[in-house]
Amino acid sequence: MSHQLSDRINNLPISQTLSMAAKARELKSQGIDIISLSLGEPDFNTPDFIKEAAKQAIDANYNSYTPVDGYLELQEAVCRKFIRDNGINYTPNQIVVSTGAKQSLANVAMVLLNPGDEAILPAPYWVSYEAIVNLCEAIPVVISTNIEQDFKITPEQLETAITPKTKLVFFNSPSNPSGAVYSKQELRALADVLVKHPHVYVISDEIYEHIIYEGSAFSMAAFDDMYENTITINGLSKAFAMTGWRLGYLGAPQWIAKACTKMQGQITSGTNCITQRAAITALDAPVSKIKYMVDEFKERRNLVLNLLQDIPGFITKNVPGAFYFFPDVSYYFGKTVQGQKIENATDLSMYILEKANVATVTGDAFGTPNCIRLSYATSRELLVEAIGRIKEVLEI
Ligand code: PMP
Ligand code: GLU
Repeated sequence: MSHQLSDRINNLPISQTLSMAAKARELKSQGIDIISLSLGEPDFNTPDFIKEAAKQAIDANYNSYTPVDGYLELQEAVCRKFIRDNGINYTPNQIVVSTGAKQSLANVAMVLLNPGDEAILPAPYWVSYEAIVNLCEAIPVVISTNIEQDFKITPEQLETAITPKTKLVFFNSPSNPSGAVYSKQELRALADVLVKHPHVYVISDEIYEHIIYEGSAFSMAAFDDMYENTITINGLSKAFAMTGWRLGYLGAPQWIAKACTKMQGQITSGTNCITQRAAITALDAPVSKIKYMVDEFKERRNLVLNLLQDIPGFITKNVPGAFYFFPDVSYYFGKTVQGQKIENATDLSMYILEKANVATVTGDAFGTPNCIRLSYATSRELLVEAIGRIKEVLEI
């Protein structure tokens, strides 16, 4: 039988973060002792006070379809959160709750991008940004950075990348995969470029805002002159250890929010009603309630930094946010390691999987082919074991 899938799906790459995680799971199920540093997923349980809210919602018979853009009480809680943590004023009709920040991102791209429009992706960028832009038949315009510039773009690079066809800039601070965080001054310098180009909109993906160890995150939409051109995206997955509950949200000018609601009204409807009720409790809680997770991530960050800096050929700098390291491993390209030729980061990542039984993600997935990504959202014991194994198999 011949299969006749659309060009759209045939041209869509599989998410490399998810496929590496699936590969690790499969090898594990075959009895192989795999340690996965591939997936960016907190290893904590969802905090009890949020689980309690979900249990109460089930008992209170929350079981019906919700408004497509989320319960009003949740939109109000999101508004309170945006004021409290980010200094951004949104009203509930500017908030759209979705099935994860991933859907929020896709919604915005789908409602703003026409075929042929350009979308700027500062690299390294999160894996799904490029796929989403391609799905919209828009053109990804990549701004490359490197570890010397801490993987942050400069205002000059941004200015050069903007053309009359630019519609969107994808912005992510703290960054997955680099862990970079832009200071308020650095963001202001980028905003100074953007305000000269009012046809350009910014998606500010702030899903790692609370996972930060030095300094603090700042929101693009908090600048008055960027408010009308910024869509702020966030979600519960990372800060509250709720990846599987599936809830993300955005704040945006009302015309964009309305369009996103129209889009998801035809595709998914509102997200899970129990998750939404639990989200009200999560977002209204003081940030101090989740600090124990951030404290633990910080300990791991310090541990992993020391371990990685001990591996010859890995260029690693300290990172202020998220839970990833993104070492430059180009030293190994063209070299033979323990009998195996390594040409690029994908080869190295596969070599490490096969020889050390440790899953990482190639930098190619993030538009930065000199690097590999290691997630440290796993226990300290496993991190020590995993990085020890990597070091061993990389001895030349
Ligand atoms: N943005 C970034 C930068 C991410 O790392 C992720 C991964 N979880 C998402 C968005 C999507 O998160 P969610 O689980 O809310 O869909
Ligand atoms: N955002 C996580 C990561 O980058 C989860 C995987 C995904 O959603 O693609 O690993």
